[in-house]
Amino acid sequence: MTERDPIPTRHATRWLLQCRPGFGADLAAELADWSNSAGVAGWSRVENDQGRVDFHSADGRPLPTPPALTFARQAWPVVADCPQLPERDRVGALLEALAPHLPEALAGVWLEHPDTNDGKALGRFCRKFRPHLERALRERGVALERAGAPRLHLWFADSRQVVAGLAPAGSGRPWPMGIPRLRLPRAAPSRSALKLEEAVGWLLTPVEREAALRPGMSAVDLGAAPGGWTWALRQAGLHVTAVDNGPLAESLRADRAVRHLREDGFRYRPPHRVDWLVCDMVEQPHRVARLVRHWLVSGWCGRALFNLKLPMRRRWQCVAECRALVTGGSGELGWRSAQLYHDREEITVLAWRPAAGSRG
Ligand code: SAM
Repeated sequence: MTERDPIPTRHATRWLLQCRPGFGADLAAELADWSNSAGVAGWSRVENDQGRVDFHSADGRPLPTPPALTFARQAWPVVADCPQLPERDRVGALLEALAPHLPEALAGVWLEHPDTNDGKALGRFCRKFRPHLERALRERGVALERAGAPRLHLWFADSRQVVAGLAPAGSGRPWPMGIPRLRLPRAAPSRSALKLEEAVGWLLTPVEREAALRPGMSAVDLGAAPGGWTWALRQAGLHVTAVDNGPLAESLRADRAVRHLREDGFRYRPPHRVDWLVCDMVEQPHRVARLVRHWLVSGWCGRALFNLKLPMRRRWQCVAECRALVTGGSGELGWRSAQLYHDREEITVLAWRPAAGSRG
């Protein structure tokens, strides 16, 4: 790396990727699939409990930027590794290690750590550490909060062990550790409403959100009860047919723009085309994938947003199979998937027919 290179991704031989704790092996499997198909020589070191994967170049050559990966909450190229900061003046030692790489300005400083119970204590440490670090950066002439500049990532494995990276502005999920801070409105019937909000915020671009979620549009919600997703769609002004044998929340029952049908989601057929199919049924993922494909190729909906529940061991393999089932393996239908922060043992997928005008 040259001195003060503002685009570290060009030279990185190691990336640090974060995921939900317990899903490191799935992320590593996904990385292996990508690196095999892209001809990238790399290997993963997995810290499963911490939700961390370090992807290393196998031949010392710089790694290309990985694509948006389903299981990666965050990913950035590593520029420095500090395995043992001193007890005193950790800021000084950290800046020493960063000195050859520091750009003149940073868009932000993101202090990250495992999203675990132990990680919570580290979060408190990071909040205290931040003002000292930011002051020292300014004293070194680094301007902070400069739009368009790279972002500094610091991953604290513990309070003395830090990995540092620089990511281009706008890359990755737009929240430290990939965790959006969303508040559940009191009126929402379930926490699942946050899952839909996060999915719309990450899987759709702002332009797509504007075009594809407009008042007066229509949606079918399969597996709707108690109604978090239906409620969130109503907030956007859509008319919703909610299909579930279970009861909907009281507030939705009184809503004339919500039609509740106590039916099996696999048997239900819409009387006319709708803009959206959303589906959160707790069912076998392959079954859901086939159903979603059927809706899309039959022209029953323009776009589909759905969850795939992944209680099995080899989750990435299941995701890859479901992707092939939905898209037909030929890219004939669009697919974007992510394990969202609000997803537990599951992922959320956006699929569409290209004619629906989504970005490919
Ligand atoms: N998205 C909902 C929300 O925001 O409140 C939560 C859905 S909950 C995780 C799963 C729902 O799927 C349950 O209410 C269950 O009754 C429903 N379900 C499971 N299999 C179904 C099927 N074959 N047809 C219709 N609903 C089904």
